[in-house]
Amino acid sequence: MRNVVIVGSGCAGNTAAVYAARANLKPLVISGYEAGGQLSLTSEVENFPGFPEGINGPHLVGNMKTQAERFGAEYMDGSVLEADLQQRPFRLNVEGEWIETRTLIIASGASARWLGLPSEQRLIGHGVSSCATCDGFFYRGKKIMVIGGGDSAMEEANYLTRFGDEVSLVHRRENFRASKIMIDRARANPKIKFLNNTVVDEVYDVSKMLVTGVKLRNLQTGEAWEQDVDGFFVAIGHIPNTRPFKGQIDTDEDGYILSHGGARTNIPGVFHAGDVQDRVYRQAITAAGAGCMAAIEAERLLEAEGH
Ligand code: NAP
Repeated sequence: MRNVVIVGSGCAGNTAAVYAARANLKPLVISGYEAGGQLSLTSEVENFPGFPEGINGPHLVGNMKTQAERFGAEYMDGSVLEADLQQRPFRLNVEGEWIETRTLIIASGASARWLGLPSEQRLIGHGVSSCATCDGFFYRGKKIMVIGGGDSAMEEANYLTRFGDEVSLVHRRENFRASKIMIDRARANPKIKFLNNTVVDEVYDVSKMLVTGVKLRNLQTGEAWEQDVDGFFVAIGHIPNTRPFKGQIDTDEDGYILSHGGARTNIPGVFHAGDVQDRVYRQAITAAGAGCMAAIEAERLLEAEGH
């Protein structure tokens, strides 16, 4: 029987592990299928306080894990396939092995939705990004492309005009899903060029392991063309990783966990941390803070129960 099981090994999960381990709770971290979370997909992180020269994303999250292990956290490879949160101890099926725990911290994150092109997948972290706040800075004076037609795409396109010489916004339909105010703001920005009814067929150049351009196609005319691009930002939404908990934990219609104050969920003893609950800030530092909150809440509950 575990005191604390943490699902997810990104910023939120690792920070929860550091705090829970230092409280002598010997937490078990289930690494998940994207071990290290979204930081493991980025290159340089320049906005995590404490690293004035910046730090490589995988290195930062690796350091967090090492720090948690130093205090006694254990890590287990694999993902949670199903969960029974109806009664305590909670039960988790991790790749076929059932684990029991008194408290659970869900820090399974949200995965960026990608177009799914093989070339796009190969170039993630090499010019392909899902986070303008993280990576926009690297494209100062460069050509940037943003994919999507929702508020995120509008917001990212606007933000990226601070860096790029030009930002092309590529959307598969004529009409945008984004709110009017966000569309108006983007339309008023002279650096943003709109390419509606257009899809991306290929991202170049996998042989150089660097984004150099894209192949586009207009869905109405069928016209296809190539365009030079340095930074390729995909902003077509995120998918919270809550499937194993579906039907047991309160979520919104998109699957994000609903907070019941602090790090609490609707189930006493189950806490949330990071992007699995946060659809607004989604930063490494906010996820780390949320992991700290969840661990402190778990610790206090266990203490109140005499464990
Ligand atoms: P979203 O509203 O779901 O929009 C996703 C966009 O990506 C849609 O335009 C969709 O096209 C497009 N898309 C999806 N799959 C695609 C694919 N395979 N290929 C090409 N395009 C694809 O997601 P979001 O923009 O991330 O926003 C999520 C939520 O956060 C929304 O509720 C939004 O209002 C909110 N948000 C708010 C703000 C703000 O107010 N400041 C900022 C960001 C996000 P279709 O339209 O054709 O389906």
